Amino acid sequence: MKLVSTVQELQSEIQHLAQGRTVGFVPTMGALHQGHISLVKQAVSENPVVVVSIFVNPTQFNDPADLERYPRTLENDMKLLEPTGCSIVFAPNAKEVYPEPDKRKFNFGKLEEVMEGKHRPGHFNGVAQVVSRLFDMVKPTKAYFGLKDFQQLAIVKNMVKQLQLPVEIVPCAIIREESGLAMSSRNELLTEEQRKNAAVISETLFKAKELKGQKSVQEITDWVTETINKNPFLDVEYFEIVDDEQLQPVKNWDEDSTKVGCVAVFCGKIRLIDNIVF
Ligand code: AMP
Repeated sequence: MKLVSTVQELQSEIQHLAQGRTVGFVPTMGALHQGHISLVKQAVSENPVVVVSIFVNPTQFNDPADLERYPRTLENDMKLLEPTGCSIVFAPNAKEVYPEPDKRKFNFGKLEEVMEGKHRPGHFNGVAQVVSRLFDMVKPTKAYFGLKDFQQLAIVKNMVKQLQLPVEIVPCAIIREESGLAMSSRNELLTEEQRKNAAVISETLFKAKELKGQKSVQEITDWVTETINKNPFLDVEYFEIVDDEQLQPVKNWDEDSTKVGCVAVFCGKIRLIDNIVF
């Protein structure tokens, strides 16, 4: 496994290893956990060459304090990646990714008007900027994204379509801690007590799925919000039940679409997201 930090090293290493064979790519912001590792393992099982990028992208943070406190643990990340069979770790600095400020403005229409798009203005524009730049550098055959960031996956798919990029986007299942809490780099920022209480988020989503036959979409929405908010450590920013393509709110269970319940919750200052397919 090779650690590189410049685009030039990255590309010569890929060329050397791939020799025209497929390249799998897993973009991350580091502070890796088993959620990331599951993506890397899937990429390794499907491609002879796998690139993992580790870059805390400033343009996708709408809150400077969030960017500042985001965990950075390169040494540990390398230890976790070593046994996966990943070929190249690309850990550039901001100047390498953005030699000039990226002024591009993407238009994702309704997709970016809901949920994360609504509550984190500019976030998905930053995601599209960095993912498109990384795709341009790595030129992957397949890129792997977690379903935990459900809306991000929809945005990336839409961006690939808009820019007509020759890359296959592969969605990967949500990996959870034993308590059910969706794994996240931000979990490391929680106190032990907060982390224990944060399990209420996924517990409530699982229970909501069981209650689906007995309650309307609105009743489930209210129930999830109230149940999580009852926990003194948790404060729901939104819970919405949306269709899995346009991510627009659904009103009835019998509408013809797969429905996904998406939630964002503050646990102290730390913002956590999760979702469940109904
Ligand atoms: P991040 O480092 O948070 O930008 O995440 C990098 C990639 O890992 C994204 O595609 C995430 O959706 C994915 N990911 C993060 N946490 C999980 C998880 N618990 N399960 C599956 N994928 C995840």
